[in-house]
Order: sequence, then C-alpha cells, then structure tokens
Amino acid sequence: MGFHPLQAIADNDIGSMEVDFSEAEEMTFVRFMKNHKCYEIIPTSAKLVVFDVQLRVKKAFFALVYNGVRAAPLWDSEKQDFVGMLTITDFICILQNYYKSPLVKMDELEEHKIATWRDVLSKKARPLVWIDPDASLFEAVRMLIQSKIHRLPIVDPITGNVIYILTHKRILKFLGLLKNELSSPTFLKRSLQDLGIGTYTNIATAKRDTPLIKALQIFVERRVSALPVIDDNNKIIDIYAKFDVINLAAEKTYNNLDITIQQALQFRQTYFEGVHTCQATEKLETIMEKIIRAEVHRLVVVDSENHVVGVVSLSDLLTFLVLRPAGVTSRKSSINSPDSEK
Ligand code: ADP
Ligand code: ADP
Ligand code: AMP
Repeated sequence: MGFHPLQAIADNDIGSMEVDFSEAEEMTFVRFMKNHKCYEIIPTSAKLVVFDVQLRVKKAFFALVYNGVRAAPLWDSEKQDFVGMLTITDFICILQNYYKSPLVKMDELEEHKIATWRDVLSKKARPLVWIDPDASLFEAVRMLIQSKIHRLPIVDPITGNVIYILTHKRILKFLGLLKNELSSPTFLKRSLQDLGIGTYTNIATAKRDTPLIKALQIFVERRVSALPVIDDNNKIIDIYAKFDVINLAAEKTYNNLDITIQQALQFRQTYFEGVHTCQATEKLETIMEKIIRAEVHRLVVVDSENHVVGVVSLSDLLTFLVLRPAGVTSRKSSINSPDSEK
C-alpha cells in the first residue's frame, strides 16, 4: 500500500512543524545567506532593460520579448527616480482586465502608457522594492518572499542605477555553485513529505481545454506562478507558467484569449522536454539538485502514477532553508488567498 503524500504533508505543515535536528545544522543555509552579499551574485555581464513610464504598455511588452528579458524597472523622468517594476504579471493583469472578446480590440492595451496603467491601479501600484549590493543574500531572500515578488533590483547607492535583477532562481544557482562551502546537514537526506515542504492542498491546475482567459484569471486571483496541466484523471500532461503568457505578445495573438491552454502552449518558443516532476518521498537534496538543473521555478509533485499531488517552488525551498530556521515568517498562509491581492 502506498502512502498518501497529500495527507502526510497536510498533517505536517511547515508553520507548525516541530523540527528535530540540531540548531547548528538548522542554521546552515541561514549562515550561508548572511555571509554572502548581493554583489557577489551579480554576473559579469547581464542584460538590463529599463522602461520610461511614458512608454506605451504594448510597446513595453514587445520590448521585453525582443530583448529576451522577463521584467524591467520603471523610470520616471519627472521624478528622476525608479518608481516600480513591469513584469509578465502586469501583462497578465492588463489582458485580464481589458479583454472582452476576440472581436473587440483592447484599446487600453493599444493606448495606455505605463504611467496611465499605474494610475488605473491606483493604490495597488507598488513603489520599487529594491536592495543594496552590500546587503546580505539573507535580506534578499526575506524581501523576495515577504513582498511576494519574483524580481528584486539591486540598486547602486552611489549612482542610483539598477545594476542587476535578483531572482529566486539566481540565488538557488549560486547556492548550487558554492555548495562545497557548506557542511551537508542531515535534513537534506530527509524527504519532502517528512519535512513538509511545498503546497499540497487546493492546487490550482488547468486542463488542455481550459480557456486561456480563465487561466489568466486564476493567475491573478490565486497569485500562483504556474498551472500544472492535467488530464481527466488528474495526471500531469504539461505546465502553463506566467512566463509562457509573454508568447502572446511575441506572436501578437493576445487579441484572442478564448483559445485553449493547449493552443496557447503551441506558442512556446523553446524546446519543451516534458514537465519536471518529483515525488514527495524524494530527499530534499535530490529535489534541490533537480530544480537547479532543470532551471525552472517549481517542480510538480506527483505520485507513482503521475497524479498531481502538489507543487514545490523555489520560494518554498528558500522559506524552509533560510527563513524558517531564522524565525522569519513568510506570511505563507495568505499567499494563495484572493484577499492578499495588493
Ligand atoms: P513575475 O513573476 O510575473 O515576474 P512578480 O511576481 O515579481 O512578477 O510581480 C508581481 C507584481 O509585483 C507585479 O505587478 C510587479 O510589477 C510587481 N513587482 C515585482 N517586483 C517588484 C519590485 N521589485 N518592486 C515593486 N514591484 C514589483
Ligand atoms: P521564470 O524564469 O520566469 O521563473 P518559469 O521557471 O516559471 O520562469 O518558466 C520558464 C519556462 O519553463 C516556461 O516556458 C514554463 O512553461 C517552463 N516550466 C516551468 N516550470 C516547469 C516544470 N516544472 N517543468 C517543465 N517546464 C516548466
Ligand atoms: P511561487 O510564486 O511559485 O514561488 O509560489 C508561491 C507559493 O504558491 C508556494 O508556496 C507554492 O508552493 C504555491 N504554488 C505555486 N504554484 C501553485 C499552484 N499551481 N497551486 C497551488 N499552489 C501553488
């Protein structure tokens, strides 16, 4: 008889979990993150694209595509300051807000400047969340997770320029590169299910025939970064991530959001080698190796028959390794709640 990962992990929620490893072991990743500064993680060359808030939103999203970047800091020349970020989530919010049908042109997408869109958002438009290159990676992890963002600009305090955009992926990659610096704590040999890492209830999914507009709505309402695509038996067949939505700009197909997820996935630009999955019985170290190697933001947790049982994302891993032992809360309980919208 197989175990039931969903039940096992629901009973073992991270927030309430009693850990039984030594404090020194527990603090391994906290120490690592506190001992390394943000500037150490900046690659020697990286592309950075900045948008003036007077740019039209449509052009801005095309520019993300042409430059092969996922986000851009926003510059307000009147204020002579960076005032926020533009990410694929913003593209999704705009599409979801203004789409009516394939027959009605989204004038707002055609005409709005970034500044106009931020005015529409009113109080919801966030000021820039940024970090100093001299700050520790621990602080960067805390800001990424507590602010529930996926892009953290590193700003040079002398010039005021954004010098790099930090992500969970980059931090995990850095950790992977410097793993020899770390002693290997015994909890890395324990399983996801044992440690209670990931989300195992109320998983947001899509089916092949889910209309794209519905998927965008789920992204906005649930604040999840990807939807496992399942068949009628809850078996994993594909994945639709927020990142994939930018292909609608690349293909100029954002005028018809009545297409299905399956049709939308045909616009994927890169070769798709199948969904990266894991099982809840796998060791944490195996999961870390897998997710770093796959260069994806999350693994879909499946059972032995490929039924979807959960999601383990880079933010879950960083919360477990870095924030929890330091006693910092991730405010996880509100993460999937519509009430937590900014
Ligand atoms: P994505 O996963 O699509 O790259 P995020 O989850 O980072 O996007 O963004 C969620 C929302 O928060 C978006 O409206 C985005 O503009 C905003 N945002 C992202 N990063 C920052 C930041 N560093 N400062 C202020 N706002 C941000
Ligand atoms: P980001 O780098 O913006 O965080 P993601 O890792 O979410 O982006 O997605 C990048 C690409 O990888 C997308 O095309 C997405 O469909 C794909 N992808 C994301 N997660 C997985 C996964 N678990 N298995 C396979 N492909 C994935
Ligand atoms: P992320 O934005 O991917 O870093 O994930 C934030 C939180 O949402 C993490 O706790 C994930 O486990 C969880 N999560 C991610 N994707 C899903 C999903 N499709 N359904 C439910 N929870 C998810």
